[in-house]
Amino acid sequence: MDRRDFLGATARLAALAALGQLGACTQSQPLKFDRDPFTLGVASGDPLPDGVVLWTRLAPDPLAGGGMAMAPVDVDWLVARDEAMTDVVRSGTYGATADLAHSVHVEVSGLEPDRVYWYRFRAGGAESPVGRTRTAPAVTAFQAFRFAFASCQNYAQGYYTAHANLAREDLQAVFFLGDYIYEGTARGDIVRDYSKRGWSFTLADYRDRYAQYKTDRDLQAAHAAFPWIVTWDDHEVENNYAGGISEDDPRNKAALAERSAGYQAFYEHMPVRTPRPQGPDLKLYRSLSYGGLATFFVLDTRQYRSPEIALCKELDQTPSGYCPASVDPTRTMLGLGQRAWLLKGLGDSVTPWNFVAQSVRFAQQDSSPELGKHVFDGVDNWMGYVVDRQMILDRFTTTKNPVVLSGDSHVNFVYDLKRDFADPAAPTIGTELLGTSISSDGDPFVEQTQFTPPSKNPQLRFFDNHRGYVRCALEPTRLIADFRAVSTVRKPSATVSTTATFVVDDGKPGARRA
Ligand code: FE
Ligand code: CA
Repeated sequence: MDRRDFLGATARLAALAALGQLGACTQSQPLKFDRDPFTLGVASGDPLPDGVVLWTRLAPDPLAGGGMAMAPVDVDWLVARDEAMTDVVRSGTYGATADLAHSVHVEVSGLEPDRVYWYRFRAGGAESPVGRTRTAPAVTAFQAFRFAFASCQNYAQGYYTAHANLAREDLQAVFFLGDYIYEGTARGDIVRDYSKRGWSFTLADYRDRYAQYKTDRDLQAAHAAFPWIVTWDDHEVENNYAGGISEDDPRNKAALAERSAGYQAFYEHMPVRTPRPQGPDLKLYRSLSYGGLATFFVLDTRQYRSPEIALCKELDQTPSGYCPASVDPTRTMLGLGQRAWLLKGLGDSVTPWNFVAQSVRFAQQDSSPELGKHVFDGVDNWMGYVVDRQMILDRFTTTKNPVVLSGDSHVNFVYDLKRDFADPAAPTIGTELLGTSISSDGDPFVEQTQFTPPSKNPQLRFFDNHRGYVRCALEPTRLIADFRAVSTVRKPSATVSTTATFVVDDGKPGARRA
């Protein structure tokens, strides 16, 4: 029964009820939706060799709190080997509750490795669209892995033409590296506005914002096509937020209340394999492996970071170009627990490729236009947290094929990673691929693509300011990255093309243009 059949059947039931033909039975009937509750689509994520997380949320009135009563609702789920959902291999019932906005997180197990599956939900006589997912390969497998990474999908600033094209790619998984939503009122050049204009950092605000994003059909298509591995950046809570605020600060209570609301709404809307949030805490960092080929360390660069440097007046006083606070050894981007976990994980990894998937720019970039002068002022990215970055770079010298995947900048960058960025002759020890935004900042005012490293930043191999995503093919001997650009985000449909292809060869850190 497709959605139109279902709505027709519901209308007929309603008509029968109105005629009294269902009479006294109505009270004992199970829940029947009179509107489609699957308005936010379906999703899957965090694939393992034997399982995957399935997600949906019941929201018949998505832009106004969801439209569900307080009662729990049983949601049936099915996993099948075919798109027609006839060869069912797993099924069950999940109790969706109002405290988590009637969201569904099913952790399916017992599946076969590296296999495509289809899934669907049913509740109250309604049926969800069918989603497609894929398990990870067994740890003994070394076949190629095709994936994409993306970030920064400001709904107001553009249509999801990138997602429409992403959904048509031949991929096994998608990594999303933060700014899934943008909090607050629409800003900048507004292509489509939010239906809810007010904003007060409450759970209701965040829920309605996720719902608005998730009603987009192109975003739904990209979720329904592949499992996603998601982390967050700042806008899932608030622009440039950092950890909490120190306990004695009177702003602390409000900041942590916003964080609790943001984290809970994130959890309610993402296909993540994490424990449910506990107040302002949600453990999101985790690692996933793709066969024996690759390990992905997925970081949380927000929850545990030291407060951002407020104003870097000291810039000109330091010969290195760094604010003194940037190199303060007591400050941290990852927090001590996550940092120790990452360094140990990189040290213990036996896979030939090792990816660090995270939200913000990792490499050094000198923004001073003057020769002989340096300004390292990216205080919200790793430039403001140099000590943690140096520990990771030091560890990269003994890591096999380390590649950092990043977002946040709303442009594409490719960097050679150096253990000592101050020495241009220092060997390259790793690679950073930074992907542009899906829609944030809209179409470029002037299109720019540059392959020649600027003299101040010889580690920068590529710059490009289109909207899009990065498509990757990982083989045992090389990683191929296609920077995919859409023709526009100002209109609902667009073409996609490859602006540049870069290759990282096994054992040769740094990307070369193909
Ligand atoms: Fe962003
Ligand atoms: Ca950001």
